[in-house]
Amino acid sequence: MVLTKRLQKLTQILSQAASINRPGDPDFESNATRWSEYAAPRPGAVINVATEADVQKTVQWAVKNGVQFLAQTGSHGWTITWNLGEPNVIINLRRLNKVSVNLNEGYAIIGGGALVHEVIDAAYAAKAHVVVGNCNSVGACGAMLGGGFSRLQANFGMSIDNLISVRLVTAKGEIITVSSTGDHPNLWWCLKGAGHNFGIVTSAVVKAFPQINDGMHWESNMIFLPDHIEQVTQTINDLDMGEGMSIHYAFAGLPPIGFPAVVLELWYAGTAEAAEKAFAPLFKLHPIYHKSSPTPYNKINAALDQGQYKGSQKPTWSVALEKLDPAAVRKVWNHYLEFRLFHPSSKNSAVMFECFAFGKVRETPDEHSAFPWRNMNFHVCASLLYTDPAVDEAADAWGEKFRLILQEASGMKENKVYVNYATGDEPIEEMYGDKHRLDILRAQKTLWDPEGWFSHYHPIY
Ligand SMILES: Cc1cc2nc3c(=O)[nH]c(=O)nc-3n(C[C@H](O)[C@H](O)[C@H](O)COP(=O)(O)OP(=O)(O)OC[C@H]3O[C@@H](n4cnc5c(N)ncnc54)[C@H](O)[C@@H]3O)c2cc1C
Repeated sequence: MVLTKRLQKLTQILSQAASINRPGDPDFESNATRWSEYAAPRPGAVINVATEADVQKTVQWAVKNGVQFLAQTGSHGWTITWNLGEPNVIINLRRLNKVSVNLNEGYAIIGGGALVHEVIDAAYAAKAHVVVGNCNSVGACGAMLGGGFSRLQANFGMSIDNLISVRLVTAKGEIITVSSTGDHPNLWWCLKGAGHNFGIVTSAVVKAFPQINDGMHWESNMIFLPDHIEQVTQTINDLDMGEGMSIHYAFAGLPPIGFPAVVLELWYAGTAEAAEKAFAPLFKLHPIYHKSSPTPYNKINAALDQGQYKGSQKPTWSVALEKLDPAAVRKVWNHYLEFRLFHPSSKNSAVMFECFAFGKVRETPDEHSAFPWRNMNFHVCASLLYTDPAVDEAADAWGEKFRLILQEASGMKENKVYVNYATGDEPIEEMYGDKHRLDILRAQKTLWDPEGWFSHYHPIY
């Protein structure tokens, strides 16, 4: 009732193109449903903002009325730190999805609500490359604010390394431009790796590059029998991940029946000839299935589209590693099979060993951004997929053990996790790094958001 009254006031100040969905409205479910419904927020309304001024007015309205809010673009963020219930709202940025690319000047402007595929489509049409994530339905800015892994990082660095400036709506309800040369160097640092904590990005200016190989890339799909796990793992460990290269090594359920399989997806930005040379050690391993093809850059993420539907429980855990331990990877396979055996409906669950090239990423020094883990080589994510929340408890225990298997075998002194892949129960240092980094983040948080309005997603505390 209270929220209803407050929303009436908000309706009066928003643009004509904005709208508000309440539970029961036709669009509420599609706009409020997340990629994973595990521990998902349950808002009392979705505010579909349509302009930068709408974002500003909504934040001002929310702060004035004490209404908690969460910005949302791709709704792919998973975490157990959401803290948003019925009296609170989602600010849906999807209508701010304009993307323009100026290759001559070497930049693109990405609307704060644009999805990865919208950026790729616009870049491809302009014969350009823009560094965005590997999954089409993820929010381009949502991913970038944590760092932004991309196949193109092999050539150009991560999304944050190519960021020129952002327009930001702050907790004070101001709109500011933040850039490397502007007035707020510490805030700029924080936005590149811990950005979800500091405001709402309404647009971002990023670098645009001429297409590699006229936009014709290459991909390869391989399936191995499980007895090859140690060999495949060691070969990936030893592979020199140079420019153009990226790999997803996965344990996944193969369609149509979800048969558990060991899968490799390889991508290369360049010619087939160069790709075959770069990945030669993997070609020698005798997969039971192997298909390679040239792929235009605008179709480069298509292989991952099937895992991106919204809804269902998809609790996810992740670990960042310097190297993959073949014996530990075997244990993870056994652990994966065990869960699937006891929970047959979870056949679309997957463990993904992301192997991206970090050479270009490391050309940007660590101290240039809040992203702390440029020295990691592998980011392993496990997502259990099922519909019955009664399975949550078993899933939680499984996830704990999954992380332990890899952490104990890592040989690393400290556990680390890419903030965009964190579950939300990790110590803060695992996501954001050491005390020096946390001191900067905490000081900037106190300056820009002392009341903690932007504290739903892996908050700084
Ligand atoms: C299937 C899948 C594939 C993925 N692939 C990649 C990948 O290739 N590379 C990678 O780096 N990460 C990837 N991720 C992780 C992804 O970066 C994070 O989940 C990210 O938070 C998703 O952003 P979103 O906008 O889709 O999600 P949302 O849930 O909408 O947002 C997540 C967080 O970001 C904030 N946010 C979103 N947009 C804005 C904005 N414009 N301004 C300020 N805050 C904002 C939200 O408030 C929220 O706190 C993937 C995740 C999934 C589920």
